[in-house]
Amino acid sequence: MISIKSPREIELMAEAGRIVARVHKKMKEVIKPGISTLELNRIAEQVILDNGATPSFKNYQGFPCAVCASINDTLVHGIPDHTILNDGDIITIDVGACYKGYHGDSGWTYFVGNVDQKVIDLCRVTEESLYKGLEQVKPGNHVGDISHAIEEYVRAYGYGIPEDYTGHGIGRSVHEDPYIPNVGKAGSGELLKKGMCIAVEPMVFMGSDKCYTLKDGWGVKSYDHSWAAHYEHTVAITDDGYRILTKED
Ligand code: MG
Ligand code: MG
Repeated sequence: MISIKSPREIELMAEAGRIVARVHKKMKEVIKPGISTLELNRIAEQVILDNGATPSFKNYQGFPCAVCASINDTLVHGIPDHTILNDGDIITIDVGACYKGYHGDSGWTYFVGNVDQKVIDLCRVTEESLYKGLEQVKPGNHVGDISHAIEEYVRAYGYGIPEDYTGHGIGRSVHEDPYIPNVGKAGSGELLKKGMCIAVEPMVFMGSDKCYTLKDGWGVKSYDHSWAAHYEHTVAITDDGYRILTKED
């Protein structure tokens, strides 16, 4: 079932989103060669707790940490550990915060030191595809309009889009209906309405879209070792478009 949020609920989600944005601001400051993903997780969790929220992902279906930390060829759901970031890596930090019962969710891919131009291009195109998708977020459009806009933009560069990983509705639960796929047909799927809150999140591989889950049951990697980028905002649908909730004012 797709829930429509009241203005009061959207303000609570905006506060959750602001806290998520503060985590990302901090991540941008501290991500550099030599830091471990476990240390990034510790810093992120502290920001969430200091702002009176709780980490949405910790203990969610058994996930052990506050953030997903996915390096290079890991697409999503990397478990923070003692792995040290090296110059030239990329890392996606995906983080959710729950404030007074409402969630915000945003993932972002960061450069560690000096990154190869081809990887910079992958990240730029993936980030741009997020905004191409968001341009379609307005009452009267359909979920498939978002999916199609992302797919059309990304495919032009020959990149792979793993279809099993999608955006989603969000609110009292971090994952709600509907799914927001990153591939699809314009005009198809659920009708978008004012008050719906969704997380739009293109996830893109430089090469093939084929991927597998690690033995830990969480991390997802490409078979061909191609690197992955991922950009996500939580938004609320307004009268004539969308409002990004996962940002600082
Ligand atoms: Mg999400
Ligand atoms: Mg996320």
